[in-house]
Amino acid sequence: MTKLEEYKRKRRFDRTPEPSGEEGGPLRENFFVVQKHAARRLHYDFRLAINGTLKSWAVPKGPSLNSADKRLAVQTEDHPLEYGGFEGKIPEGSYGAGTVMVWDRGTFQPEGRDSALKQVEHGEIKFHLSGEKLNGSFVLVKLKHSEKGNEWLMIKHKDAAEDPRWDIEQHDGSVLTGRTLQGIKEESPPHTRSQPVAAGRIGRSPQKRHAGAPGADAHDSRRWCLLGSELAFRNQVGWRAGLGLGSQRQVDAAGSARRGHH
Ligand code: MN
Repeated sequence: MTKLEEYKRKRRFDRTPEPSGEEGGPLRENFFVVQKHAARRLHYDFRLAINGTLKSWAVPKGPSLNSADKRLAVQTEDHPLEYGGFEGKIPEGSYGAGTVMVWDRGTFQPEGRDSALKQVEHGEIKFHLSGEKLNGSFVLVKLKHSEKGNEWLMIKHKDAAEDPRWDIEQHDGSVLTGRTLQGIKEESPPHTRSQPVAAGRIGRSPQKRHAGAPGADAHDSRRWCLLGSELAFRNQVGWRAGLGLGSQRQVDAAGSARRGHH
């Protein structure tokens, strides 16, 4: 059975805009993506590019930077690498019908001696993420007593990237287009990179719900914004801005109301 057989069997590519897995393309190993997916039940799909496909887990509550959280992660079928760039609507009646957002992406480094593939096969993989929202070391470990055999836990290791006040609702928005799930559903145009997701979040601060000091939160936002600009720089051919411009935009966004689309 080829790696993508289950993926292809579940989908009708004349009905869904999802990638068919035939395109191939110049995609690197060692990237990760997290897609927020408003299917029948909202969840986050965590995917690691390993051995030419995206190893995938559905995380109902989404990843956490709080090392006290143990997030259930249900392994799903391998997805094609191109899926990592997919954001849009899966039509009613199709497998996984609902809206998909590219919630985070970046690179990952396996930790430990074995290859990433071996670690997944052995039911425990340790890795370090460098994303726009997720950073630091994590482990995914398969539950030995899982009835269905596909239940894992995703746990943040204690390190400098840990955030005991983590609240995923404070980190919403597409890292690809700046849109919310509603915006993607309504097919609103992508925001330009002059409205980075993290900076936009500052603008929506009235929604802030956790009890932590606002100053500390703003500091974190700034950091993600810089990382966001850095990634945008890598992902957009011809983008000339460096970290300096990124921080200027962040100041603009923090200091004024959200601007309209350009
Ligand atoms: Mn999903």
